[in-house]
Amino acid sequence: MATDGDPLPPVPEIRRIGIVGAGQMGWGITYVAALAGYEVVVTDIDQEHLTSAQGRIEAYADRQVGKGTLEDDDRRALLGRISMGTDLGLYGDCQLVVEAATENEQVKRQIFQSILPHLRKDAIVASNTSSISITRLASCTDRPERFIGMHFMNPVPVMKLVELIRGIATAEDTYQAIVDVAARMNKSAVTAEDFPAFIVNRILLPMINEAVYTLYEGVGTVESIDTAMRLGANHPMGPLELADFIGLDTCLSVMHVLHEGLADTKYRPCPLLVKYVEAGWLGRKAKRGFYDYRGDKPVPTR
Ligand code: NAD
Repeated sequence: MATDGDPLPPVPEIRRIGIVGAGQMGWGITYVAALAGYEVVVTDIDQEHLTSAQGRIEAYADRQVGKGTLEDDDRRALLGRISMGTDLGLYGDCQLVVEAATENEQVKRQIFQSILPHLRKDAIVASNTSSISITRLASCTDRPERFIGMHFMNPVPVMKLVELIRGIATAEDTYQAIVDVAARMNKSAVTAEDFPAFIVNRILLPMINEAVYTLYEGVGTVESIDTAMRLGANHPMGPLELADFIGLDTCLSVMHVLHEGLADTKYRPCPLLVKYVEAGWLGRKAKRGFYDYRGDKPVPTR
């Protein structure tokens, strides 16, 4: 690789994309990639998450067919382009791998160490991290020039935006290749500099954290805070509802990155957010967070 003094191999034509992690982002990225005509392989350490991702992809495709936005033949072709498993050898033919595993730097570092030996030398590696430094993640790989941040929004098939983040060493042709992939996935790209939490979460997460403080200090209830922001600021979702949707573990993790990375006390995570995460009440994915989702309709937990 170029880091050893060898010339950088040219960016290959991207036809097959690997996804690491089949959680709420992983299934969505898989869906939009397969819809765009890419072959997609997905791995996860947890077979149950792969099974559940397959179910979510099929259910979403069925809904699109029901709405008339996807032809039945295209649905079949889309599902035929996706393969899943736990064997990292699946990444061998991929020209691009998008890491979408748990928002934890140690976990991501370990993932890169374990997948790199299976990758083509010219493969691009992208991380869907919400907040962690792309430069730092790139530095633990053998290919910082071929490493980039590709931050999709949740739910991926619905949200138009993808943030692209260049690390200090990211090569221009890597960036251009990913601009093209984003366009082919029908996403609008914005480019953010590599500072903690980039653009969207730098602004969004402190607002969510402040909503949790508003709850913690008893200024409002879960319902009054969400109603106030929906009707008073015209937000489509209240901040606590949105936090449950994102995942409270991810929200806390982003606040830690902001707090540590920018060394400003205004980013300190609310102790109530910490408590919810400690309880395992991680939001929708755990069926409990600021709302309880186990019944017919969400019920506030405070
Ligand atoms: P999630 O908890 O739903 O899924 C994470 C998945 O990673 C799980 O299926 C888990 O089994 C898997 N995983 C953990 N360790 C692994 C390993 N070593 N190898 C393979 N798979 C492994 O989380 P998510 O919400 O999908 O978030 C994934 C990434 O996307 C995070 O970096 C997060 O910050 C980012 N992101 C999340 C959102 C959001 O709204 N949730 C939005 C944009 C970006």
